[in-house]
Amino acid sequence: MRWDNLRLTGADGDDPAVPLFARGAVTRTFDTPEFRGMTFYEIQARSIINRVPAASRVPFEYTINPYRGCGHRCIYCFARKTHEYLDLDSGADFDSKIIVKVNAAELARKELASPRWGGHHVAMGTNVDCYQRAEGRYRLMRGILAALRDAANPFSILTKGTLILRDLDLLTEAADVTEVSASVSVGFVDQEVWRAVEPGTPNPRRRLQTCATLNDNGIACGVLMAPILPHLTDSPAQLERTVKEIADAGATHIAPIVLHLRPGAREWWLSWLSREHPRLVPRYLELYGRGSYAPKAYQEQVTGLVKEYAERHGVGRATPAMARRLPPRPTPPTPEPEQLRLL
Ligand code: SF4
Repeated sequence: MRWDNLRLTGADGDDPAVPLFARGAVTRTFDTPEFRGMTFYEIQARSIINRVPAASRVPFEYTINPYRGCGHRCIYCFARKTHEYLDLDSGADFDSKIIVKVNAAELARKELASPRWGGHHVAMGTNVDCYQRAEGRYRLMRGILAALRDAANPFSILTKGTLILRDLDLLTEAADVTEVSASVSVGFVDQEVWRAVEPGTPNPRRRLQTCATLNDNGIACGVLMAPILPHLTDSPAQLERTVKEIADAGATHIAPIVLHLRPGAREWWLSWLSREHPRLVPRYLELYGRGSYAPKAYQEQVTGLVKEYAERHGVGRATPAMARRLPPRPTPPTPEPEQLRLL
């Protein structure tokens, strides 16, 4: 690794021209089993609220990402490529060399108070998981959530981390004054596949319990059923079992997404596949040989089945203990039932 070249990209609001160590980055390791083999690079970020480039086809405009890299180590992770901007690799380095923006909470409070800030919705967990294991030690999200609560600024969180429940107090306080929502990511509940491809994450069933607890406490929580893995978790029986467990957890909605393999994730995934399931490699090359996405017909077939099972098992039918203490607001146009259940 070339330390003098270790830089942050401008992709999340940082100045790419300033090397990490010019900003006083501190390298740290922890001698505990959960962090063995991991290195943390503590940096002072220049800014923390990031405006998503207009070309991105995502349903949010602003994000906060306190970490880069993710100890959850999902083999398919689409964010792997972003580690290359730091002169780190998108494979093992992404899993074990984590950038920590230690001043994230302080910056969030400052930027939310700026007269230039328009009070927009802020999405978190959209690049890497903000409740990955490092958060248990650094506790950056507590400060960020407190700042969002104090600014009554709407926000949402996507995570695989059950650690989000540590912050239930702040989430419910924020939900008293602004719009707060969450999604947990559970692409499948197959235990063998989970251990193999998401080795650093909590069990998917614990994630679903987390979803249930959030809803029980008035934080609307749905499930991003992603990724659905071709030939590993896409059989009708596997899809239906997952959807049923999502329904049983009381998820407010379900959003199915088939695996996509962009550069960075693609190489890491195919190398794992050729070691563990070599017979599947030709089938993956057939599906992803021409690009990052599986053919539309395949995607529609899978999402169509998920939709059918979601209706059968009543995803979104359970009413969460929400409609919290927010003052009444004008009634928005009624969404189509399908929008309620399938984003
Ligand atoms: S939890 Fe999310 S960000 Fe972390 S490795 Fe898995 S897919 Fe990537």
